[in-house]
Amino acid sequence: MVDKDTDIIKIDEELCTGCRRCAEVCPVDAIEGKQGTPQFINVEKCVMCGQCIQICSAYASIFEEYRTSREDKLRERKMPVTLEEPIFAAYNIGDLPKVKKALTNTEAFTMVQCAPAVRVAIAEEFGMPLGSLAPGKLAAALRQLGFKRIYDTNFAADLTIMEEGSELVQRITEGGPLPMFTSCCPAWVKFVEQEYPELIPHLSSCKSPQQMAGTMFKTYGAQVDGIEPESIYSVAIMPCTCKKFESQRPEMNTDGYQNVDAVLTTRELAYLIKEAGIDFSSLPEEDFDKPLGMYSGAGHLFCATGGVMEAAIRTAYELITNEPIPNVNIQYVRGSQGVRRGVVHAGDVKVKTVVVSGLKNVAPILEEIKKGNADFHFMEVMTCPVGCVSGGGQPKVLLPKDTEIAYKNRISSTYRHDEEQTYRKSHENPEIKAIYKNFLGEPLGHKSHHLLHTEYKQRGYCK
Ligand code: SF4
Ligand code: SF4
Repeated sequence: MVDKDTDIIKIDEELCTGCRRCAEVCPVDAIEGKQGTPQFINVEKCVMCGQCIQICSAYASIFEEYRTSREDKLRERKMPVTLEEPIFAAYNIGDLPKVKKALTNTEAFTMVQCAPAVRVAIAEEFGMPLGSLAPGKLAAALRQLGFKRIYDTNFAADLTIMEEGSELVQRITEGGPLPMFTSCCPAWVKFVEQEYPELIPHLSSCKSPQQMAGTMFKTYGAQVDGIEPESIYSVAIMPCTCKKFESQRPEMNTDGYQNVDAVLTTRELAYLIKEAGIDFSSLPEEDFDKPLGMYSGAGHLFCATGGVMEAAIRTAYELITNEPIPNVNIQYVRGSQGVRRGVVHAGDVKVKTVVVSGLKNVAPILEEIKKGNADFHFMEVMTCPVGCVSGGGQPKVLLPKDTEIAYKNRISSTYRHDEEQTYRKSHENPEIKAIYKNFLGEPLGHKSHHLLHTEYKQRGYCK
């Protein structure tokens, strides 16, 4: 059965030329149709990564008439009708109307989180160079838009490391199932559920940072502000189109409250900023709010391929050895090759790791695991080419040479931002220490488990 919420990625048949460039980048062969005719998406196979949106260059020309007017097309896509930019054949349905309504609802207490990849790309939408780093302007723009608390997914990424690292150690010491897979990338999780359901037990039970942040907003965040969870409207700004799907999953609910109420992509946030008439490039540098907006460099690394692994190694090494890690920059997990293997030597413990970027590269490894031949403990998988910085909701770069520069610059901005942070390890983030002391107890404890972990299940399509 097809879930109704899988209808997030679409192809406009009036605009599609049938070039099939999208089919070349689709990691799961979900784009169907003949060359030269409009394509359609097999929603059961689609993992909603949005890579088809990024590559599509067929757009509505202002000189041509279509059956459906541009205004109607924009309404259908839930984009502002004032938008003065080309609209392309492949697109995602937006969440702007819901967010605009919440921002004008005086009874809604809006809390927003920003994924790490957003701050290394959003400035491109305002004419700044590819990969410009703009966390301060991003925080300022969100405040000017009227969000009440400007929080951060990076904080929740630090929280994820505390939980996921502890889960890995528990699986290693108590007997599996190993290897453990990261569960931050919703397209990867959906892929396992629909194509490799027998491997679901290998997925970490941790919710993604987006969902952990949402949960914390409506529990700890509510407590900090002395308000009821039902008054909180939780918005996530994400580089990823599949995060819209993840936020609607019934599992992503705590005590009757959906963790995230609406997701805007980086592009959608830019539309909102433009519509509000905010001059992004001249905004002052502002800070994210505390406590749920304080992050370490490790938390920020989640947006690059290998970043979750690097953050996990920084913390795991110190937890295992009780000594500072000799070099905080873990070079072997970085890079752009599709599969990168390595070993962490933490005292007498040797943890074997695999980093995979691009979903197409993961199938041979999963087959290896199915045959019982896996010789490693922990695997990070990101669906998009170089991790979330190249996500389907990021600013669109049309020329292949510019795409390469954009990815390279967004990645180098990511590492620069990590180096700029006072704290570079998740377990050293003072607000993370405080949240365990004052609210959660301990990683994998009863409360953490209830709020921050979940279960995954088999989905309709199985190959
Ligand atoms: S959706 Fe875009 S990229 Fe895909 S076939 Fe149509 S025009 Fe080409
Ligand atoms: S969103 Fe991703 S999986 Fe779905 S059709 Fe597009 S490229 Fe394929």
